[in-house]
Amino acid sequence: MSLEWEEVEEGIARVRDPSSGESEWRFVDAPALCESRSRDGWRWVEVRARLCRGGVRVLRDVALGFVAKKGRCGVCLRRAEVACECGAEWCGPRCRAVDADHPCDALATLAGCERARPPESLLSFLDFGALRLAARLWRRGVSLEPLCHHRDRLVAAARRGDRSAESALQAARVGANVLAQALGRQDDDDEEFVLALLRLRFNAFPFETGLAVFRDASALNHSCAPNSAVSIRRDDDHHGRVVLEARAHVDLHRGAEVTITYLSLRALVSRDARRAALRDAFFFSCACAGCGPGGYDVDPLDLDAVSGALLGDDNNNNKDLVLAASRRADAILAAIPAGAAVPVARARLRLLAARTLLRLGASDDARAIARATLDDDLIPALGRQDPHSRLAAAYLAASPRT
Ligand SMILES: [Zn+2]
Ligand SMILES: [Zn+2]
Ligand SMILES: [Zn+2]
Repeated sequence: MSLEWEEVEEGIARVRDPSSGESEWRFVDAPALCESRSRDGWRWVEVRARLCRGGVRVLRDVALGFVAKKGRCGVCLRRAEVACECGAEWCGPRCRAVDADHPCDALATLAGCERARPPESLLSFLDFGALRLAARLWRRGVSLEPLCHHRDRLVAAARRGDRSAESALQAARVGANVLAQALGRQDDDDEEFVLALLRLRFNAFPFETGLAVFRDASALNHSCAPNSAVSIRRDDDHHGRVVLEARAHVDLHRGAEVTITYLSLRALVSRDARRAALRDAFFFSCACAGCGPGGYDVDPLDLDAVSGALLGDDNNNNKDLVLAASRRADAILAAIPAGAAVPVARARLRLLAARTLLRLGASDDARAIARATLDDDLIPALGRQDPHSRLAAAYLAASPRT
Protein backbone atom coordinates (compact mmCIF):
# COMPACT_ATOMS: atom_id res chain seq x y z
CA MET A 1 0.00 0.00 0.00
CA SER A 2 1.28 3.44 -0.68
CA LEU A 3 -0.26 6.67 0.46
CA GLU A 4 0.58 10.09 -0.89
CA TRP A 5 1.80 12.38 1.84
CA GLU A 6 2.23 16.06 1.59
CA GLU A 7 3.59 17.60 4.73
CA VAL A 8 2.00 21.04 4.86
CA GLU A 9 3.78 22.19 7.96
CA GLU A 10 5.86 20.47 10.56
CA GLY A 11 3.85 17.68 12.13
CA ILE A 12 0.76 18.07 9.90
CA ALA A 13 0.28 16.27 6.61
CA ARG A 14 -2.39 15.93 3.94
CA VAL A 15 -2.73 12.26 3.08
CA ARG A 16 -4.34 10.84 -0.03
CA ASP A 17 -5.13 7.20 -0.64
CA PRO A 18 -4.82 6.77 -4.43
CA SER A 19 -6.90 3.56 -4.41
CA SER A 20 -9.98 5.21 -2.91
CA GLY A 21 -9.23 8.83 -3.73
CA GLU A 22 -9.96 9.68 -0.09
CA SER A 23 -7.81 12.25 1.57
CA GLU A 24 -7.57 13.67 5.04
CA TRP A 25 -5.37 15.68 7.37
CA ARG A 26 -3.15 13.83 9.74
CA PHE A 27 -0.93 14.78 12.58
CA VAL A 28 2.37 13.08 12.00
CA ASP A 29 2.28 11.76 15.56
CA ALA A 30 -0.69 9.41 15.31
CA PRO A 31 -1.76 7.79 18.57
CA ALA A 32 -3.36 4.40 17.97
CA LEU A 33 -6.54 3.13 19.56
CA CYS A 34 -6.67 0.22 21.92
CA GLU A 35 -9.67 -2.04 21.47
CA SER A 36 -10.98 -4.91 23.47
CA ARG A 37 -12.56 -7.72 21.44
CA SER A 38 -13.91 -11.13 22.13
CA ARG A 39 -14.78 -14.16 20.08
CA ASP A 40 -15.67 -17.73 21.03
CA GLY A 41 -15.59 -16.80 24.69
CA TRP A 42 -11.99 -15.51 24.57
CA ARG A 43 -11.32 -11.90 25.23
CA TRP A 44 -8.31 -10.25 23.74
CA VAL A 45 -7.26 -6.73 23.02
CA GLU A 46 -5.55 -5.26 20.05
CA VAL A 47 -4.21 -1.93 18.95
CA ARG A 48 -5.63 -0.37 15.81
CA ALA A 49 -3.83 2.41 14.00
CA ARG A 50 -5.16 5.66 12.77
CA LEU A 51 -4.00 6.53 9.30
CA CYS A 52 -0.30 7.16 9.66
CA ARG A 53 3.01 7.19 7.95
CA GLY A 54 6.02 4.89 8.38
CA GLY A 55 8.39 6.19 11.04
CA VAL A 56 5.56 7.81 13.01
CA ARG A 57 4.89 7.02 16.64
CA VAL A 58 1.61 5.12 16.90
CA LEU A 59 1.59 4.37 20.59
CA ARG A 60 3.12 5.87 23.69
CA ASP A 61 2.47 4.30 27.05
CA VAL A 62 3.84 4.94 30.53
CA ALA A 63 4.68 1.76 32.50
CA LEU A 64 2.27 0.67 35.23
CA GLY A 65 5.45 -0.50 36.94
CA PHE A 66 8.93 -1.84 36.27
CA VAL A 67 11.89 -3.50 37.94
CA ALA A 68 15.52 -2.97 37.03
CA LYS A 69 17.96 -5.74 36.20
CA LYS A 70 20.70 -6.55 38.70
CA GLY A 71 23.32 -3.81 38.76
CA ARG A 72 20.86 -1.11 37.60
CA CYS A 73 19.21 1.66 39.61
CA GLY A 74 15.60 0.74 40.41
CA VAL A 75 14.50 4.33 39.76
CA CYS A 76 16.54 5.70 36.85
CA LEU A 77 18.08 2.48 35.42
CA ARG A 78 21.59 3.96 35.49
CA ARG A 79 24.43 1.86 36.87
CA ALA A 80 23.72 1.03 40.52
CA GLU A 81 26.15 2.11 43.25
CA VAL A 82 24.23 1.51 46.51
CA ALA A 83 22.07 -1.41 47.60
CA CYS A 84 19.57 -2.19 50.31
CA GLU A 85 19.61 -5.46 52.26
CA CYS A 86 16.51 -6.47 50.31
CA GLY A 87 18.49 -6.41 47.07
CA ALA A 88 16.96 -3.17 45.73
CA GLU A 89 19.72 -1.07 44.12
CA TRP A 90 20.11 2.60 43.25
CA CYS A 91 22.59 4.89 41.54
CA GLY A 92 22.86 7.08 44.67
CA PRO A 93 21.08 8.63 47.66
CA ARG A 94 18.67 10.70 45.54
CA CYS A 95 17.11 7.75 43.78
CA ARG A 96 17.20 5.80 47.02
CA ALA A 97 15.08 8.53 48.63
CA VAL A 98 12.63 8.48 45.69
CA ASP A 99 12.24 4.72 46.23
CA ALA A 100 11.95 4.97 50.03
CA ASP A 101 8.59 3.20 50.00
CA HIS A 102 9.85 0.11 48.12
CA PRO A 103 8.37 -3.10 49.60
CA CYS A 104 11.59 -3.85 51.50
CA ASP A 105 10.30 -6.77 53.58
CA ALA A 106 8.70 -8.52 50.62
CA LEU A 107 11.76 -8.01 48.40
CA ALA A 108 14.01 -9.27 51.23
CA THR A 109 11.92 -12.46 51.50
CA LEU A 110 12.15 -12.96 47.72
CA ALA A 111 15.91 -12.34 47.78
CA GLY A 112 16.26 -14.83 50.68
CA CYS A 113 14.33 -17.38 48.66
CA GLU A 114 16.53 -16.78 45.63
CA ARG A 115 19.72 -17.03 47.73
CA ALA A 116 18.52 -20.24 49.39
CA ARG A 117 18.72 -21.84 45.95
CA PRO A 118 15.42 -23.65 45.77
CA PRO A 119 15.65 -27.18 44.38
CA GLU A 120 16.08 -27.35 40.60
CA SER A 121 12.53 -28.64 40.25
CA LEU A 122 11.15 -25.45 41.83
CA LEU A 123 13.70 -23.04 40.45
CA SER A 124 12.56 -23.62 36.89
CA PHE A 125 9.15 -22.29 37.94
CA LEU A 126 10.32 -19.15 39.69
CA ASP A 127 10.91 -15.97 37.73
CA PHE A 128 12.23 -13.64 40.41
CA GLY A 129 12.11 -10.58 38.16
CA ALA A 130 8.37 -11.08 37.69
CA LEU A 131 7.91 -11.78 41.41
CA ARG A 132 9.68 -8.54 42.37
CA LEU A 133 7.57 -6.64 39.86
CA ALA A 134 4.39 -8.24 41.22
CA ALA A 135 5.39 -7.35 44.80
CA ARG A 136 6.00 -3.70 43.87
CA LEU A 137 2.73 -3.43 41.95
CA TRP A 138 0.79 -5.08 44.75
CA ARG A 139 2.15 -2.75 47.43
CA ARG A 140 1.37 0.28 45.27
CA GLY A 141 -2.15 -1.01 44.71
CA VAL A 142 -1.71 -1.05 40.93
CA SER A 143 -4.38 -3.14 39.27
CA LEU A 144 -3.49 -5.38 36.33
CA GLU A 145 -7.18 -6.12 35.82
CA PRO A 146 -7.46 -4.99 32.18
CA LEU A 147 -4.65 -7.30 31.06
CA CYS A 148 -5.44 -10.76 29.69
CA HIS A 149 -4.38 -13.65 31.96
CA HIS A 150 -5.40 -16.49 29.58
CA ARG A 151 -5.88 -18.85 32.52
CA ASP A 152 -8.94 -20.57 31.08
CA ARG A 153 -7.14 -21.13 27.82
CA LEU A 154 -4.18 -22.64 29.67
CA VAL A 155 -6.43 -24.88 31.76
CA ALA A 156 -8.16 -26.15 28.60
CA ALA A 157 -4.81 -26.75 26.88
CA ALA A 158 -3.38 -28.50 29.95
CA ARG A 159 -6.43 -30.80 29.98
CA ARG A 160 -5.62 -31.74 26.41
CA GLY A 161 -2.16 -32.77 27.61
CA ASP A 162 -0.22 -29.65 26.58
CA ARG A 163 2.92 -29.81 28.77
CA SER A 164 3.88 -26.14 28.27
CA ALA A 165 0.44 -24.99 29.40
CA GLU A 166 0.63 -27.26 32.40
CA SER A 167 4.01 -25.93 33.42
CA ALA A 168 2.90 -22.30 32.91
CA LEU A 169 0.01 -22.92 35.31
CA GLN A 170 2.31 -24.69 37.75
CA ALA A 171 4.77 -21.79 37.60
CA ALA A 172 1.98 -19.32 38.41
CA ARG A 173 0.84 -21.44 41.37
CA VAL A 174 4.34 -21.89 42.82
CA GLY A 175 5.12 -18.21 42.24
CA ALA A 176 1.82 -17.14 43.82
CA ASN A 177 2.64 -19.17 46.89
CA VAL A 178 6.08 -17.57 47.27
CA LEU A 179 4.60 -14.11 46.61
CA ALA A 180 1.81 -14.57 49.16
CA GLN A 181 4.40 -15.48 51.80
CA ALA A 182 6.63 -12.56 50.86
CA LEU A 183 3.71 -10.16 51.17
CA GLY A 184 2.67 -11.75 54.46
CA ARG A 185 -0.66 -13.10 53.20
CA GLN A 186 -0.25 -16.85 53.76
CA ASP A 187 -3.78 -17.26 55.01
CA ASP A 188 -5.34 -16.02 51.79
CA ASP A 189 -6.35 -17.85 48.73
CA ASP A 190 -3.50 -17.37 46.25
CA GLU A 191 -5.82 -17.07 43.28
CA GLU A 192 -5.37 -13.34 42.97
CA PHE A 193 -1.59 -13.79 42.80
CA VAL A 194 -1.92 -16.61 40.29
CA LEU A 195 -3.81 -14.27 37.98
CA ALA A 196 -1.36 -11.42 38.59
CA LEU A 197 1.61 -13.64 37.68
CA LEU A 198 -0.13 -14.97 34.58
CA ARG A 199 -0.88 -11.40 33.54
CA LEU A 200 2.79 -10.51 33.93
CA ARG A 201 3.85 -13.66 32.10
CA PHE A 202 1.80 -12.75 29.06
CA ASN A 203 2.11 -8.97 29.16
CA ALA A 204 5.36 -7.80 30.75
CA PHE A 205 8.07 -6.57 28.38
CA PRO A 206 11.67 -7.48 29.10
CA PHE A 207 13.99 -4.71 27.91
CA GLU A 208 17.76 -4.00 28.02
CA THR A 209 17.82 -2.87 31.64
CA GLY A 210 14.69 -4.34 33.20
CA LEU A 211 11.17 -5.68 33.03
CA ALA A 212 8.13 -3.42 32.64
CA VAL A 213 4.39 -3.79 32.28
CA PHE A 214 2.09 -1.42 30.40
CA ARG A 215 -1.66 -1.18 30.02
CA ASP A 216 -2.33 -0.24 26.39
CA ALA A 217 0.88 -1.67 24.97
CA SER A 218 -0.04 -5.05 26.44
CA ALA A 219 -2.66 -5.21 23.71
CA LEU A 220 -0.02 -5.19 20.97
CA ASN A 221 -0.17 -8.53 19.19
CA HIS A 222 2.59 -10.49 17.51
CA SER A 223 3.39 -10.85 13.85
CA CYS A 224 6.49 -12.47 12.34
CA ALA A 225 6.43 -9.59 9.86
CA PRO A 226 5.37 -6.79 12.22
CA ASN A 227 4.42 -3.36 10.96
CA SER A 228 5.81 -1.61 14.07
CA ALA A 229 8.77 -1.73 16.42
CA VAL A 230 8.89 -1.03 20.12
CA SER A 231 11.32 1.10 22.11
CA ILE A 232 11.31 0.96 25.91
CA ARG A 233 13.35 3.40 27.95
CA ARG A 234 13.38 5.72 30.90
CA ASP A 235 11.98 9.03 29.74
CA ASP A 236 13.93 11.98 31.07
CA ASP A 237 11.17 14.36 29.97
CA HIS A 238 8.49 12.68 32.05
CA HIS A 239 9.85 12.54 35.58
CA GLY A 240 11.96 9.55 34.70
CA ARG A 241 9.09 7.17 34.13
CA VAL A 242 9.60 4.15 31.92
CA VAL A 243 7.83 4.58 28.61
CA LEU A 244 7.16 2.39 25.63
CA GLU A 245 6.84 3.79 22.15
CA ALA A 246 5.71 1.89 19.07
CA ARG A 247 6.64 3.31 15.68
CA ALA A 248 5.11 2.33 12.36
CA HIS A 249 7.58 0.81 9.92
CA VAL A 250 5.31 1.37 6.92
CA ASP A 251 2.29 3.57 6.16
CA LEU A 252 -0.75 2.25 8.02
CA HIS A 253 -4.38 2.59 7.09
CA ARG A 254 -6.93 3.61 9.65
CA GLY A 255 -7.99 0.46 11.49
CA ALA A 256 -4.91 -1.58 10.56
CA GLU A 257 -3.79 -3.61 13.52
CA VAL A 258 -0.51 -2.41 15.00
CA THR A 259 1.73 -5.47 15.35
CA ILE A 260 5.14 -6.09 16.90
CA THR A 261 7.30 -9.18 17.33
CA TYR A 262 7.48 -11.03 20.63
CA LEU A 263 10.59 -12.95 19.62
CA SER A 264 14.32 -12.37 19.54
CA LEU A 265 15.90 -12.33 16.10
CA ARG A 266 17.39 -15.78 16.61
CA ALA A 267 13.99 -17.32 17.45
CA LEU A 268 12.30 -15.35 14.68
CA VAL A 269 14.38 -16.23 11.64
CA SER A 270 13.75 -19.95 11.46
CA ARG A 271 10.19 -21.02 10.66
CA ASP A 272 10.30 -24.06 12.96
CA ALA A 273 11.96 -22.16 15.80
CA ARG A 274 9.43 -19.34 15.74
CA ARG A 275 6.49 -21.72 15.59
CA ALA A 276 7.84 -23.64 18.55
CA ALA A 277 8.59 -20.46 20.52
CA LEU A 278 5.14 -18.96 19.89
CA ARG A 279 3.40 -22.22 20.74
CA ASP A 280 5.41 -22.96 23.90
CA ALA A 281 5.58 -19.44 25.30
CA PHE A 282 2.42 -17.78 24.01
CA PHE A 283 0.13 -20.72 23.15
CA PHE A 284 -0.90 -19.80 19.65
CA SER A 285 0.02 -20.94 16.19
CA CYS A 286 0.92 -17.99 14.09
CA ALA A 287 -0.95 -17.42 10.87
CA CYS A 288 0.72 -14.16 9.90
CA ALA A 289 2.07 -13.29 6.46
CA GLY A 290 5.61 -14.24 7.51
CA CYS A 291 4.46 -17.77 8.37
CA GLY A 292 2.40 -18.46 5.27
CA PRO A 293 3.60 -19.62 1.88
CA GLY A 294 6.50 -17.43 0.82
CA GLY A 295 7.30 -16.88 4.48
CA TYR A 296 10.95 -16.78 5.44
CA ASP A 297 13.19 -19.46 6.92
CA VAL A 298 16.85 -18.87 7.76
CA ASP A 299 19.26 -21.16 9.64
CA PRO A 300 19.94 -19.46 13.01
CA LEU A 301 23.48 -20.90 12.87
CA ASP A 302 24.23 -18.48 10.01
CA LEU A 303 23.37 -15.63 12.37
CA ASP A 304 25.45 -17.14 15.16
CA ALA A 305 28.45 -17.34 12.85
CA VAL A 306 27.99 -13.72 11.81
CA SER A 307 27.54 -12.50 15.40
CA GLY A 308 30.71 -14.36 16.45
CA ALA A 309 32.69 -12.71 13.65
CA LEU A 310 31.23 -9.28 14.55
CA LEU A 311 32.40 -9.73 18.12
CA GLY A 312 35.88 -10.37 16.71
CA ASP A 313 36.36 -13.06 19.34
CA ASP A 314 38.22 -15.64 17.30
CA ASN A 315 41.64 -14.19 18.10
CA ASN A 316 42.24 -12.54 14.77
CA ASN A 317 41.93 -8.85 15.42
CA ASN A 318 41.34 -8.14 11.79
CA LYS A 319 39.04 -5.29 10.84
CA ASP A 320 38.49 -6.66 7.33
CA LEU A 321 36.93 -9.79 8.81
CA VAL A 322 34.60 -7.64 10.92
CA LEU A 323 33.61 -5.53 7.92
CA ALA A 324 33.00 -8.65 5.82
CA ALA A 325 30.84 -10.13 8.61
CA SER A 326 28.89 -6.87 8.81
CA ARG A 327 28.17 -6.98 5.07
CA ARG A 328 27.16 -10.62 5.44
CA ALA A 329 24.77 -9.69 8.31
CA ASP A 330 23.22 -6.94 6.17
CA ALA A 331 22.76 -9.42 3.30
CA ILE A 332 21.10 -12.06 5.51
CA LEU A 333 18.68 -9.51 6.94
CA ALA A 334 17.94 -7.95 3.55
CA ALA A 335 16.60 -11.34 2.46
CA ILE A 336 14.16 -11.68 5.37
CA PRO A 337 10.74 -10.06 4.91
CA ALA A 338 10.32 -9.59 8.66
CA GLY A 339 9.04 -6.02 8.52
CA ALA A 340 9.89 -3.82 11.48
CA ALA A 341 11.98 -6.58 13.07
CA VAL A 342 14.63 -6.11 10.36
CA PRO A 343 15.94 -2.59 11.13
CA VAL A 344 16.02 -3.35 14.86
CA ALA A 345 17.96 -6.57 14.30
CA ARG A 346 20.29 -4.90 11.81
CA ALA A 347 20.99 -2.11 14.28
CA ARG A 348 21.97 -4.57 17.01
CA LEU A 349 24.40 -6.33 14.67
CA ARG A 350 25.80 -3.09 13.27
CA LEU A 351 26.36 -1.76 16.79
CA LEU A 352 28.34 -4.92 17.59
CA ALA A 353 30.45 -4.29 14.52
CA ALA A 354 31.00 -0.62 15.44
CA ARG A 355 32.09 -1.55 18.96
CA THR A 356 34.57 -4.14 17.73
CA LEU A 357 35.93 -1.76 15.09
CA LEU A 358 36.46 0.92 17.76
CA ARG A 359 38.33 -1.60 19.87
CA LEU A 360 40.52 -2.42 16.86
CA GLY A 361 41.24 1.27 16.33
CA ALA A 362 39.38 1.37 12.99
CA SER A 363 37.47 4.47 14.01
CA ASP A 364 36.56 5.67 10.50
CA ASP A 365 34.88 2.35 9.78
CA ALA A 366 33.18 2.40 13.18
CA ARG A 367 31.89 5.91 12.48
CA ALA A 368 30.52 4.94 9.08
CA ILE A 369 28.65 1.95 10.50
CA ALA A 370 27.31 3.91 13.48
CA ARG A 371 26.14 6.70 11.15
CA ALA A 372 24.44 4.24 8.78
CA THR A 373 22.60 2.40 11.52
CA LEU A 374 21.49 5.62 13.19
CA ASP A 375 20.05 7.07 9.96
CA ASP A 376 18.73 3.92 8.26
CA ASP A 377 17.65 1.76 11.16
CA LEU A 378 17.44 3.39 14.55
CA ILE A 379 15.84 6.78 14.05
CA PRO A 380 13.02 5.50 11.80
CA ALA A 381 12.41 2.31 13.80
CA LEU A 382 13.01 3.31 17.40
CA GLY A 383 13.41 7.09 17.54
CA ARG A 384 16.32 9.25 18.68
CA GLN A 385 15.81 8.66 22.38
CA ASP A 386 16.07 4.88 22.30
CA PRO A 387 19.13 3.57 24.18
CA HIS A 388 20.41 1.95 20.95
CA SER A 389 20.27 5.31 19.17
CA ARG A 390 22.12 6.93 22.04
CA LEU A 391 24.74 4.21 21.88
CA ALA A 392 25.19 4.74 18.13
CA ALA A 393 25.52 8.48 18.76
CA ALA A 394 28.10 7.79 21.46
CA TYR A 395 30.10 5.64 19.04
CA LEU A 396 30.05 8.51 16.57
CA ALA A 397 31.33 10.90 19.21
CA ALA A 398 33.90 8.45 20.57
CA SER A 399 35.62 7.97 17.25
CA PRO A 400 37.02 11.28 16.03
CA ARG A 401 38.00 11.43 12.39
CA THR A 402 41.56 10.30 11.83
ZN1 LIG B 1 19.04 6.38 39.90
ZN1 LIG C 1 14.97 -2.54 50.87
ZN1 LIG D 1 3.99 -15.68 11.99
